[in-house]
Amino acid sequence: MSIMPNWGGAGVGRYKTRCPPGVCQVDPVPGTSKLEAELFNQLNYVLGDGVQHWNFFGRKVDMMFNIDSHGLIVEYDGAYWHRGRERSDREKAELLSEYRLTVIRVREDPLRPLRHEDLWVPKGADAILCARLVLLHAMHLLRWRMPQRAEGFLIAAAAPLDREQVPCRSCWSLARRYRRRGDAAI
Ligand SMILES: [Zn+2]
Repeated sequence: MSIMPNWGGAGVGRYKTRCPPGVCQVDPVPGTSKLEAELFNQLNYVLGDGVQHWNFFGRKVDMMFNIDSHGLIVEYDGAYWHRGRERSDREKAELLSEYRLTVIRVREDPLRPLRHEDLWVPKGADAILCARLVLLHAMHLLRWRMPQRAEGFLIAAAAPLDREQVPCRSCWSLARRYRRRGDAAI
Protein backbone atom coordinates (compact mmCIF):
# COMPACT_ATOMS: atom_id res chain seq x y z
CA MET A 1 0.00 0.00 0.00
CA SER A 2 1.27 3.42 -0.85
CA ILE A 3 1.92 5.75 2.05
CA MET A 4 2.33 8.74 -0.20
CA PRO A 5 1.59 11.83 1.86
CA ASN A 6 -1.05 14.13 0.44
CA TRP A 7 0.76 17.28 -0.66
CA GLY A 8 -1.94 18.18 -3.11
CA GLY A 9 -0.21 16.52 -6.00
CA ALA A 10 -1.22 13.58 -8.11
CA GLY A 11 1.11 11.28 -9.94
CA VAL A 12 0.49 10.33 -13.50
CA GLY A 13 2.12 7.70 -15.63
CA ARG A 14 4.58 6.21 -13.17
CA TYR A 15 5.93 3.78 -15.72
CA LYS A 16 5.62 5.93 -18.80
CA THR A 17 8.82 6.64 -20.64
CA ARG A 18 7.23 9.42 -22.67
CA CYS A 19 4.82 12.17 -21.70
CA PRO A 20 2.28 13.70 -24.05
CA PRO A 21 2.94 17.12 -25.62
CA GLY A 22 2.80 19.97 -23.13
CA VAL A 23 2.77 17.76 -20.04
CA CYS A 24 6.35 18.35 -18.98
CA GLN A 25 6.75 22.07 -18.31
CA VAL A 26 10.51 22.16 -18.11
CA ASP A 27 10.89 20.32 -21.37
CA PRO A 28 9.64 22.30 -24.36
CA VAL A 29 9.27 19.27 -26.57
CA PRO A 30 7.08 16.24 -26.14
CA GLY A 31 8.65 13.23 -24.57
CA THR A 32 10.83 12.43 -21.65
CA SER A 33 14.45 11.56 -22.17
CA LYS A 34 15.43 7.93 -21.96
CA LEU A 35 17.98 8.84 -19.31
CA GLU A 36 15.35 10.49 -17.13
CA ALA A 37 13.17 7.37 -17.31
CA GLU A 38 16.15 5.15 -16.49
CA LEU A 39 17.18 7.40 -13.61
CA PHE A 40 13.68 7.14 -12.20
CA ASN A 41 13.80 3.35 -12.44
CA GLN A 42 17.17 3.21 -10.68
CA LEU A 43 16.13 5.54 -7.88
CA ASN A 44 12.76 3.87 -7.48
CA TYR A 45 14.48 0.50 -7.22
CA VAL A 46 16.36 1.79 -4.18
CA LEU A 47 13.97 4.30 -2.64
CA GLY A 48 10.57 2.95 -3.71
CA ASP A 49 7.31 4.90 -3.42
CA GLY A 50 8.32 7.07 -6.36
CA VAL A 51 6.09 8.92 -8.80
CA GLN A 52 7.26 10.01 -12.20
CA HIS A 53 5.80 13.26 -13.58
CA TRP A 54 4.42 14.32 -10.25
CA ASN A 55 1.89 17.15 -10.34
CA PHE A 56 2.28 19.64 -7.53
CA PHE A 57 -0.43 22.29 -7.70
CA GLY A 58 -0.20 22.40 -11.44
CA ARG A 59 3.61 22.29 -11.57
CA LYS A 60 4.99 19.12 -13.07
CA VAL A 61 8.14 17.67 -11.59
CA ASP A 62 10.19 14.88 -13.13
CA MET A 63 10.05 12.55 -10.14
CA MET A 64 9.17 12.53 -6.48
CA PHE A 65 10.04 10.06 -3.76
CA ASN A 66 8.52 9.71 -0.34
CA ILE A 67 11.45 9.43 2.06
CA ASP A 68 10.20 8.83 5.57
CA SER A 69 7.21 11.12 4.91
CA HIS A 70 9.47 13.77 3.40
CA GLY A 71 9.21 14.68 -0.27
CA LEU A 72 12.38 14.37 -2.31
CA ILE A 73 12.05 15.88 -5.78
CA VAL A 74 14.57 14.97 -8.45
CA GLU A 75 14.65 16.92 -11.69
CA TYR A 76 16.94 15.89 -14.52
CA ASP A 77 18.24 18.90 -16.47
CA GLY A 78 19.80 17.71 -19.69
CA ALA A 79 22.31 20.23 -21.06
CA TYR A 80 20.58 20.68 -24.39
CA TRP A 81 17.05 21.34 -23.20
CA HIS A 82 17.82 23.34 -20.08
CA ARG A 83 20.36 25.74 -21.57
CA GLY A 84 19.11 29.28 -21.00
CA ARG A 85 16.35 28.15 -18.61
CA GLU A 86 18.32 28.92 -15.45
CA ARG A 87 15.91 31.50 -14.10
CA SER A 88 12.73 29.42 -14.45
CA ASP A 89 14.50 26.28 -13.21
CA ARG A 90 15.78 28.10 -10.11
CA GLU A 91 12.40 29.73 -9.43
CA LYS A 92 10.63 26.40 -9.67
CA ALA A 93 13.07 24.77 -7.21
CA GLU A 94 12.68 27.69 -4.79
CA LEU A 95 8.90 27.48 -4.99
CA LEU A 96 8.93 23.76 -4.20
CA SER A 97 11.39 24.30 -1.33
CA GLU A 98 8.92 26.69 0.27
CA TYR A 99 6.69 23.66 0.78
CA ARG A 100 9.52 21.88 2.60
CA LEU A 101 10.24 19.62 -0.30
CA THR A 102 13.89 18.80 -0.91
CA VAL A 103 14.71 19.51 -4.54
CA ILE A 104 17.77 18.08 -6.26
CA ARG A 105 18.26 19.32 -9.80
CA VAL A 106 20.61 17.00 -11.66
CA ARG A 107 22.50 19.40 -13.95
CA GLU A 108 24.35 17.90 -16.87
CA ASP A 109 27.66 19.57 -17.73
CA PRO A 110 28.17 22.29 -19.01
CA LEU A 111 25.09 23.36 -17.01
CA ARG A 112 26.13 24.55 -13.58
CA PRO A 113 24.31 24.04 -10.27
CA LEU A 114 21.81 26.81 -9.58
CA ARG A 115 21.38 26.19 -5.87
CA HIS A 116 23.30 24.54 -3.06
CA GLU A 117 21.11 21.43 -3.36
CA ASP A 118 21.77 20.99 -7.08
CA LEU A 119 24.00 18.27 -8.40
CA TRP A 120 26.44 18.61 -11.28
CA VAL A 121 26.95 15.49 -13.36
CA PRO A 122 29.51 14.96 -16.14
CA LYS A 123 28.32 15.24 -19.74
CA GLY A 124 26.89 11.95 -20.93
CA ALA A 125 26.74 10.45 -17.42
CA ASP A 126 24.58 7.35 -17.58
CA ALA A 127 21.58 6.65 -15.33
CA ILE A 128 23.55 4.49 -12.91
CA LEU A 129 26.20 7.14 -12.32
CA CYS A 130 23.47 9.79 -11.92
CA ALA A 131 21.62 7.54 -9.45
CA ARG A 132 24.78 6.96 -7.40
CA LEU A 133 25.48 10.70 -7.27
CA VAL A 134 21.86 11.56 -6.40
CA LEU A 135 21.79 9.00 -3.58
CA LEU A 136 25.14 10.11 -2.17
CA HIS A 137 24.00 13.75 -2.31
CA ALA A 138 20.63 12.92 -0.71
CA MET A 139 22.45 11.09 2.08
CA HIS A 140 23.94 14.28 3.45
CA LEU A 141 20.95 16.48 2.55
CA LEU A 142 18.42 14.18 4.24
CA ARG A 143 20.75 12.36 6.64
CA TRP A 144 18.89 9.94 8.91
CA ARG A 145 15.79 9.98 6.74
CA MET A 146 17.54 8.07 3.98
CA PRO A 147 16.92 4.31 4.03
CA GLN A 148 19.85 1.97 4.63
CA ARG A 149 19.21 0.53 1.17
CA ALA A 150 20.74 3.69 -0.37
CA GLU A 151 23.98 2.94 1.43
CA GLY A 152 23.79 -0.67 0.28
CA PHE A 153 23.29 0.38 -3.35
CA LEU A 154 26.36 2.64 -3.20
CA ILE A 155 28.49 0.00 -1.51
CA ALA A 156 27.49 -2.59 -4.14
CA ALA A 157 29.32 -0.76 -6.95
CA ALA A 158 32.20 -2.61 -8.59
CA ALA A 159 34.34 0.51 -8.94
CA PRO A 160 34.57 3.60 -6.74
CA LEU A 161 33.52 7.06 -7.86
CA ASP A 162 36.32 9.28 -9.17
CA ARG A 163 37.07 12.56 -7.46
CA GLU A 164 36.20 14.52 -10.62
CA GLN A 165 32.76 12.87 -10.74
CA VAL A 166 31.98 14.21 -7.26
CA PRO A 167 32.33 17.99 -7.16
CA CYS A 168 30.13 18.36 -4.06
CA ARG A 169 32.52 18.63 -1.11
CA SER A 170 30.03 17.15 1.35
CA CYS A 171 29.47 14.19 -0.97
CA TRP A 172 33.20 13.62 -1.29
CA SER A 173 33.85 13.76 2.44
CA LEU A 174 30.99 11.29 2.94
CA ALA A 175 32.52 8.98 0.32
CA ARG A 176 35.90 9.24 2.06
CA ARG A 177 34.33 8.39 5.40
CA TYR A 178 32.93 5.19 3.88
CA ARG A 179 36.27 4.36 2.33
CA ARG A 180 38.04 4.77 5.66
CA ARG A 181 35.46 2.38 7.08
CA GLY A 182 36.44 -0.16 4.43
CA ASP A 183 33.61 0.35 1.91
CA ALA A 184 35.93 1.14 -0.94
CA ALA A 185 33.24 1.08 -3.64
CA ILE A 186 31.71 4.46 -2.81
ZN1 LIG B 1 26.54 16.43 -2.00
